[in-house]
Amino acid sequence: MLELAGVQEGDIDTVVLTHVHLDHVGWNAEGERPRFRNAQYVVQRNELEHVRGGATYERMIRPIEEAGQLRVVDGEVGLKGMRLVPTPGHTPGHQSVVTERAVLGGDVLVHPAQARWPELTYVYERDPAQAVTSRREVLALAAAARIPIAAAHPHAAIDANARPLPTPGAGDVVCLPHKV
Ligand SMILES: [Zn+2]
Repeated sequence: MLELAGVQEGDIDTVVLTHVHLDHVGWNAEGERPRFRNAQYVVQRNELEHVRGGATYERMIRPIEEAGQLRVVDGEVGLKGMRLVPTPGHTPGHQSVVTERAVLGGDVLVHPAQARWPELTYVYERDPAQAVTSRREVLALAAAARIPIAAAHPHAAIDANARPLPTPGAGDVVCLPHKV
């Protein structure tokens, strides 16, 4: 996919880890080496502390840390014209990336129905109440900035009336003022 976009692996200089679940960090390392040799990998400190020593840490984070390519941040930070915003709940140190064009929301939302009903929780949320709060904050942020939310797990997006939209994986947040 990178090649289709005209990007070589050596061109990648930053990888933001929204959180450390295997389906989100499974590209980090090839064996004992970081996949992107020129990249810093950015993770929240409490996410790192949460996963350190576990199987996913050993396979996909430790090689990055040992190569000196892991950048650990605390809380909201600016990064190359973007903002990294803590959005805990799914995991303790989950973060989202806010750009001018979209919010990259990791697993803050995993189904378009949660844009209409952010109080809907799901089984993999570590702290469901906190996840609901983060979901509401991300929806409010996207609505205020008039930018879409790009979710990591594509589903058909829904409009404000919960009708499916044709574009998978991202949708404009039009309004949820009574929910936020
Ligand atoms: Zn996840």
